[in-house]
Amino acid sequence: MRILASVTEMQATALAWRRQGRRIGFVPTMGYLHEGHLSLIALARQQADVVVVSLFVNPTQFGPHEDFERYPRDWERDRQLCEKAGADILFAPATGDMYAPGATVVVDEDQLSRMLCGASRPGHFRGVLTVVAKLFNLVQPDVAVFGQKDAQQLRLIRQLVRDLNFPVTVIAAPIIREPDGLAMSSRNKFLSPEERRQALCLSRALRLARDLYRRGERRSETLKSEMTSLISAHAATRLDYLAIQEPDTLLPLAEIGTDALIALAVWVGQTRLIDNLLLPDDRLGNLP
Ligand code: AMP
Repeated sequence: MRILASVTEMQATALAWRRQGRRIGFVPTMGYLHEGHLSLIALARQQADVVVVSLFVNPTQFGPHEDFERYPRDWERDRQLCEKAGADILFAPATGDMYAPGATVVVDEDQLSRMLCGASRPGHFRGVLTVVAKLFNLVQPDVAVFGQKDAQQLRLIRQLVRDLNFPVTVIAAPIIREPDGLAMSSRNKFLSPEERRQALCLSRALRLARDLYRRGERRSETLKSEMTSLISAHAATRLDYLAIQEPDTLLPLAEIGTDALIALAVWVGQTRLIDNLLLPDDRLGNLP
């Protein structure tokens, strides 16, 4: 595995691969890798001749009072995991190289990005879309893999590719969970043992919704109120949002017809966690 830090070297390597007709797979990450990330790398391997994993804690997607500074980092462990997972290149640019001084062009979206996480984190998706567009230009992927764990991000990446005509196939990877149901996340590291126990309320609330749905409940208000009661019984938590939306438009549904995305964000102590469920059948969700 090669390690590249330079954006020009990354782009030159990718363009050379392209000229040789090699199919490039890409997995963007912010590091502190876990099995969720590794499953994305495995999917990319299946789809491509060469795989690039990027590791970049992107400052522009963090708000001024968010956890950019304390976001977990472990370079040596990430390097080893990437190598074991079969990445060909680990691309880890410095912030000053990714964002040259004086950069003024950004990628923004003004509909899907304003809801859910976008409502709680203004500017977050502008940062995400801008960095992903830049990474696509540097890595020149044929296929890029993103996790269903970040359902709204995945939806926005599909919109980015469609609206700006990136020649990239986007693949959605299933949510990888701990055995007890907690969705894996780099931020789980912040949880104290008690918070870790209470963090289970996210996947439990989703399971409750799934069970009620299976028994015939279709009213969003009923599902939301049952889920909210379950979550509020956990003293260390505070609900940020809970939404039942149409998966494509992300518009709220009063009643579930065929498909629905149930998405939630919950503060557990000082840590904000997200999770989601696709109905009718928990596609890509792996809920226990
Ligand atoms: P991050 O490093 O958190 O920005 O995530 C990088 C990629 O890994 C994104 O596409 C995430 O959706 C994906 N990802 C994060 N956690 C999981 C998980 N538990 N299961 C599957 N994919 C994940």
